[in-house]
Amino acid sequence: MGTLQAVKGMNDVLGEETPRWQRLEARFRERTALYGYEEVRTPIVEPTALFLRSIGETTDIVEKEMYTFADKGDATLTLRPEGTASAVRAYLEHTVYAKQPVTKWTYTGAMFRRERPAKGRYRQFHQAGAEVYGDPGPYVDAEMIDMIVAFLADIGIRDIEVLVNSLGGPETRPAYTTALVAYLSPLRASLCGDCQRRIDTNPLRVLDCKVEHDRAVAAQAPSVVEFLTPADKEHFDNLQRTLDALGTPYRVEPRLVRGLDYYTRTLFEVKGRGGGLGAQDTVCGGGRYDGLVEQLGGQSTPAIGFAMGIERLLMMMEQPVAQPNIDVFIIAASPAELVEATKIARDLRQGGVRTDADLRGQSMKSQMRRADKSGARLALVVGSDEVTRSVVQLKDLIEKTQTEVPRADLLPRVRATLALVEAK
Ligand code: ATP
Ligand code: MG
Repeated sequence: MGTLQAVKGMNDVLGEETPRWQRLEARFRERTALYGYEEVRTPIVEPTALFLRSIGETTDIVEKEMYTFADKGDATLTLRPEGTASAVRAYLEHTVYAKQPVTKWTYTGAMFRRERPAKGRYRQFHQAGAEVYGDPGPYVDAEMIDMIVAFLADIGIRDIEVLVNSLGGPETRPAYTTALVAYLSPLRASLCGDCQRRIDTNPLRVLDCKVEHDRAVAAQAPSVVEFLTPADKEHFDNLQRTLDALGTPYRVEPRLVRGLDYYTRTLFEVKGRGGGLGAQDTVCGGGRYDGLVEQLGGQSTPAIGFAMGIERLLMMMEQPVAQPNIDVFIIAASPAELVEATKIARDLRQGGVRTDADLRGQSMKSQMRRADKSGARLALVVGSDEVTRSVVQLKDLIEKTQTEVPRADLLPRVRATLALVEAK
């Protein structure tokens, strides 16, 4: 039997990668907490109908990327391809709208899309995202974009480009779509097969095509900004005024559209320039979706959200110097001291010191090797004589010094040494 492997496009995270994920997630929690967001955790599997009704039947995700399966019985379930639909479902299911006028939620977690795997494009990937319900913007829109820029700086990503656009509301969309179809129709034969279909099913999606020739066609298309109603235009102007006031860098990109159907008005994207990600350089996508809550059965509720691809962010973060994950390594001179070694380790941990020990009864030499490799600053040697006299030998593995320390003084001594190291 061959060795088992992970599903194509789905990755393990281990070794030195894990602390980087943890750091990113911690910074995201801290940054969003500063803005009053609360975390929401929803199931990874949802009824397929939720995504059909929200993302849109003629989007790439719904047409070809969803992992959908029949549950026992006749329910059709789907692994979530994105987070907004589930958040809206939870918002309605728990009547959150009745409890607070404005709701600010964040989430992080795995998403699933059956795409062709490439660098920065996976079948299981992870997003960190946020949603705000109950505020029509545009000030909260600017606040959200500014928060994203601040978070990216928190994790060391500063070489970015923020693109903003407005798709307008329900009145703008039909007029713009008509103009777009009039522009695209004569060019139909030159477009890719998908786009030829999109002209009839979902013309806006042509602007989001990744085929080079189609991108050139999209670049000349009429601009949605010219079709905005006065109210839509005022919204968009105020968004830009607020971003200007905050000093948030951005560029208006009138042909920016995004892959999901539910967007209205504010739309934005953040591209990162580091990381060699090529076409996968979009680290964040977001926008307003004022019609979605109603579309899913709720009261009309303005809403806006964004999602960032964690794998892509990690590729753009600088590689930090690997940090040791323990501070003290305990060595038992012989198996007779293993009980004592276990106890000393427990006491140090209770005192908040990251401690490891080799409890397999190996030779001193082999334990010393492991201590050196562990990256621990300190090693503690416990022999029978030490147990009798209630002391330990404390070795500083960097300074190459050894001191005898009474057991009663051990914790403060270890802490003091480590604090000195940290202060340097
Ligand atoms: P793309 O145009 O790159 O396919 P998208 O428009 O499908 O992205 P969204 O649905 O807006 O992306 O998701 C937001 C973010 O999630 C993206 O900007 C990207 O960083 C990340 N992302 C989306 N799909 C994948 C994937 N298959 N693998 C890794 N990250 C992804
Ligand atoms: Mg995509």
